Amino acid sequence: MGRILTRIGRTQRRPIAEGSDPCAYSSIRLDLAVWHGLNSTTAAQLSDTISVVVASLVGSTGTAKMLRGACACGHIAYEIRGELFGPINYCHCWRCRKHSGSSFGTTASVLASQFFVVSGQALLSHWTSSPGVHRHFASCCGSPIYKLDETDPSVLRLRLGTLDNDPGVKVEMHFMVASKAPWVSIDDDLPQEVCGPPFGTKD
Ligand SMILES: [Zn+2]
Ligand SMILES: [Zn+2]
Repeated sequence: MGRILTRIGRTQRRPIAEGSDPCAYSSIRLDLAVWHGLNSTTAAQLSDTISVVVASLVGSTGTAKMLRGACACGHIAYEIRGELFGPINYCHCWRCRKHSGSSFGTTASVLASQFFVVSGQALLSHWTSSPGVHRHFASCCGSPIYKLDETDPSVLRLRLGTLDNDPGVKVEMHFMVASKAPWVSIDDDLPQEVCGPPFGTKD
């Protein structure tokens, strides 16, 4: 049985990571029977179990939802077993600007229950940017990873620049544009929420 499970695990991971259709798993039934000398009934039962697991991982659309990301040096890696959701924005507030060391932050939401640090958990640190708001970052290299607001810890605000594969979403708006850095020109047609203290001041 140990050999069978090893084979199942290895077979599952490859197509999920590459976004393959779960229907491709029908070939596992043949593999199990041929490689392990199982009768067709046992092979079918195992195959059906695998199909249920795969369907739960990839969703009803058959499209793999696994997103992966990491800090700059790679010691911290995470997986998102779900989808990003809005508001997906370019935030021009002073906190996002300074915490990223860039002109603005690019952020989307993810359910905390779907966010998994798969390596380097002990290297994840945080600072409190506002009462109850914690910005988690990689102590190994400084990459900002996500923000957690104690008023709703079920949702994390993820820094999109740490992703390593395409989340399939686009930025929806500019946020806190009144705090925008003077060297930034907004040349797109995205909606702008003009709020925040002027550049160089803090609220
Ligand atoms: Zn790092
Ligand atoms: Zn911000």
